[in-house]
Amino acid sequence: MGKNVVIVGGGLAGLAASIYLARGGRTVTLFEKRQYLGGRAITHLRHGFRFNLGAHAVYRAGAARSVYRELGIPVPGRSPKTKGIALRGGKEYRLPATILSLLTTGLLSFGGKIQLAKALFRARRIDVSKVPPVSIREWLDANLTDAGAREAMAAVIRLATYSAHDTQSAQRALAQLRVALRGNVIYVDEGWQRIVDSLRNTAVTSGVNFISGTRIMGVVRDHHGVRAVELGGLELDSDRMDTLSVALPDMKPDDIEGALIPAETVLLAVDPETAAELAGYADFTKPWMASRPITAACLDVGLRSLPRPKNTFALGIDEPLYYSVHSAVAQLAPKGAALIHTIKYRTETTASDEVIDGSATRRGAAQQDERDLEALLDRMQPGWRDVLAHRRFLPAMTVSNALALPDLPRPSPVTPVPGLYIAGDWVGDEGVLSDASLASARAAAKAILAV
Ligand SMILES: Cc1cc2nc3c(=O)[nH]c(=O)nc-3n(C[C@H](O)[C@H](O)[C@H](O)COP(=O)(O)OP(=O)(O)OC[C@H]3O[C@@H](n4cnc5c(N)ncnc54)[C@H](O)[C@@H]3O)c2cc1C
Repeated sequence: MGKNVVIVGGGLAGLAASIYLARGGRTVTLFEKRQYLGGRAITHLRHGFRFNLGAHAVYRAGAARSVYRELGIPVPGRSPKTKGIALRGGKEYRLPATILSLLTTGLLSFGGKIQLAKALFRARRIDVSKVPPVSIREWLDANLTDAGAREAMAAVIRLATYSAHDTQSAQRALAQLRVALRGNVIYVDEGWQRIVDSLRNTAVTSGVNFISGTRIMGVVRDHHGVRAVELGGLELDSDRMDTLSVALPDMKPDDIEGALIPAETVLLAVDPETAAELAGYADFTKPWMASRPITAACLDVGLRSLPRPKNTFALGIDEPLYYSVHSAVAQLAPKGAALIHTIKYRTETTASDEVIDGSATRRGAAQQDERDLEALLDRMQPGWRDVLAHRRFLPAMTVSNALALPDLPRPSPVTPVPGLYIAGDWVGDEGVLSDASLASARAAAKAILAV
């Protein structure tokens, strides 16, 4: 039993950890409550277009990339061009993304250009341990006196961190900006499903057992540590019966709900609220519950053609808006067609289901976000509605489970309960977004293998 590991959650974190552990000689069983694996990294195929769940890009210099390399997971795709449009006050300017565009943009005064250039240059090399534990707003106020340069720098940080919160930790935000500036990003061919599928196939060949469509209801522990996990109900079809009979040979379908699967090692690769619930709400789970999510409204469209092919990227400077034609560099759309992701970065923490089922005010705010994103498309691709093949609006996706705040360290992958580990974008010291998920998955797996 000591060699058995149960992983709860089949997103990127759970999948990556399962491979490290299986390769390290553990018998790994991964439970995923949904019918499919991949969590927030899935891609939907619609009318020949590959829709990620909102704009997704792999940071070349990030921890996720190094985990994929270690595990032999290819990340096919290309980087977007470092040129685009900056939107401010309803006007378009050259985006100051390179030295040349910085010198020639009308977005900033001469003094503002010098300040922004210096700040971006410093950010590439910044030693974040020397950055004081303050918010990014305080850091920007202390380091950039020119209002235009400050606003532009804040927009670049928003782009790198996905967070419009000016309360976010300066250390964490600047660390992420450094990652983004050092290596650009990759838009992945066929979407992030390619990565999910590669992780799954590698896990299968490494011997991991998968049980999808099965929710874990709790972790059973005593004073020695973890003892078992409790299963929720299972929707059975013959395929899943086969997987189940291989993974849990002694289990009959009627015995499943409420059944206990013995395990001395459990890795919870789920969101912090679910992790705290599964761990039985204890003192050590209180900091997990303190995490606040970062959310974004996403309007994604598949167009049969691009009315303005040159407009491939735009960033709002005075408004929290993002626009990018991901299919301009990655294989995501049929020939001649285009897939565009737009985002409005939110400072609300409510998730999509709460918006949809929520009050009229919340629904009204979501409708306004959708109108703002449509107006962004009207500006960048006038006539887009006439060539629309498919559209999807996601009012409040959880981009990250943990907004990084200066006084809120993220929990360690190793919990105080022997045998209980956690992983996800809210765990560990390294990175944000999927970089944090994969870095914590690797750290949790290493800690388990070291026992
Ligand atoms: C709009 C958007 C844009 C993004 N853009 C980027 C980007 O550009 N770059 C980047 O690096 N990252 C990006 N991300 C973040 C990235 O998608 C996530 O960091 C990553 O997918 C999270 O993986 P995870 O495994 O930690 O969590 P999740 O994907 O949330 O997986 C958790 C899994 O646990 C399962 N689960 C939950 N409870 C249970 C239970 N009781 N029993 C069994 N299973 C359970 C869930 O069903 C889910 O599959 C973006 C996210 C969004 C939403």
